[in-house]
Amino acid sequence: MEEQLKLLIELQEIDSFIRSIDEKIESLPRRLEQFKHPLKEVSESVQKAEAKSDVLNKKKKEKDMELDEVQDKINKLKARSSEIKTNKEYEAHIKEIEGFEKSKYKMEDDILSLMEDIENYSGYVKEKKIKVKKAEDDFKLQEKALEEEKKKLHSEMEMCKSKRGDFVAGIDEENYDQYMKLLSRMGGVAIVPTENEICLGCNTNIPPQLFNDIKKNDRIFTCYYCKRLLYFKEPVPSDKESGEAPPSS
Ligand SMILES: [Zn+2]
Repeated sequence: MEEQLKLLIELQEIDSFIRSIDEKIESLPRRLEQFKHPLKEVSESVQKAEAKSDVLNKKKKEKDMELDEVQDKINKLKARSSEIKTNKEYEAHIKEIEGFEKSKYKMEDDILSLMEDIENYSGYVKEKKIKVKKAEDDFKLQEKALEEEKKKLHSEMEMCKSKRGDFVAGIDEENYDQYMKLLSRMGGVAIVPTENEICLGCNTNIPPQLFNDIKKNDRIFTCYYCKRLLYFKEPVPSDKESGEAPPSS
């Protein structure tokens, strides 16, 4: 094979590899983002439960104060019992105390049920906080792993670029310029093999005479249609032809 052609084929291999490394590096933030999602979700549910818990605690405090007030009223009324003269006044007095006591029992019930709710929420928050910690740990672990991967990819990239420089040094300027123009114009693929009179870059037929010339691999030809550089690659026998058993009827 002609030396320039050989170098261009190898350069294409390196450039394709560099491109794949680039794509991997670009995908890293997206991959990390996936681990942010469960962390965000579980953190939000904790926040909601904590807010609800705050509301319940506030309610309980209010009820406690109301209870103190009503107890105070009862105590004061009871203290006045000795001042009462008539039976009628006494009856009314007892009724008043009973009324306050009734609302006191209702308040005590409310407070008990609030305390139960508060306890449930605090258990729920505790449980969720363990999940937040787990999600945080997972995220940090992934962040670290992806950071390592990024470093590895960058050093791989550096190696490829220096190897690339060695190849470029051996390629004629005119060939290199043509290659680079095609590389940027044709989606990162500038030189392609041909097979069965077809350009594998654009799948267009190659005239038989041209295909015969390409087969010699002693000059650089270009595809009429996509303008990519062409070379001939011996077709690899496919598995289907060699391995598959004939269909039984
Ligand atoms: Zn083509």
